[in-house]
Amino acid sequence: MKLAIAAALLAGSALPAAAQDTDWAQVRKEWNMPVAPFRITGNVHYVGTAGIAAYLITTPEGHILIDGAMEESAPLVAANIAALGFKLRDVKILLINHAHWDHSGGLAELKRLTGARLMASAGDKPGLEAGMLDYRPDLDRAPPVKVDVSLTDGEMLVLGGTTLITHLTPGHTKGCTSWTMRAGGLDIIFACSLSVAGQPLTAGQGYDAAAADFRTTFAKLKGMRADVFLNFHPSAFDMEAKRKKLLAGDVRAFVDPGELRRRVDAAKGAFEGELARQRH
Ligand SMILES: [Zn+2]
Repeated sequence: MKLAIAAALLAGSALPAAAQDTDWAQVRKEWNMPVAPFRITGNVHYVGTAGIAAYLITTPEGHILIDGAMEESAPLVAANIAALGFKLRDVKILLINHAHWDHSGGLAELKRLTGARLMASAGDKPGLEAGMLDYRPDLDRAPPVKVDVSLTDGEMLVLGGTTLITHLTPGHTKGCTSWTMRAGGLDIIFACSLSVAGQPLTAGQGYDAAAADFRTTFAKLKGMRADVFLNFHPSAFDMEAKRKKLLAGDVRAFVDPGELRRRVDAAKGAFEGELARQRH
């Protein structure tokens, strides 16, 4: 199944041989299938598509939108925000977990629709503004989007009584960014992608620190705790199964304090395998 292969490629780990033949037009179509928006817990809502996440954090003083999904997803994300009863113009801050087309493609249009300020890491800023990363010419392009504010590690974003803490977690890209916050009495992590996803890990290929960055990121995340693990590929944290449980009445469907560590361990194992493969 094409979708499964692509999901493994981007959300998973090593580059399977079959992924070289991935029909990306078909994958994009499947990832862009609509999904009804829903509240995960507290003021955290899912407003993404079936295959690519976007999260809306609402506050009385305006909202924060993390990620724009793909270029063709922007109208769906906008419609999902409206369907939950929120106004696009009330979105004040736009964030992005990393500058790959499947997450950043919708940002330019969503920035236009909301008028929000885009805040992103210095590591990913050039890629967002160019619509591509100079060290990943193999990837699809995204519409270029201007970054208004550069985020640093540990920076706190405060809006309407909600505080998001920024954690730089590079490896997947030079500026891969995660956030933590408290919502519904729970510690939430929005974890940046942890897969290698075709990133060259050895020196002389545009991102010499990639392997070292991955290792630092894995160690950093293992030192953190979260009741709810969220990621930007729904398939990377079994979102569909959790969503079904939630809609069936299980308000703790997304609560799994062991998940962060499990996901990091799995990503680290896959990374070590891919590093060995690339060095071979
Ligand atoms: Zn990516």
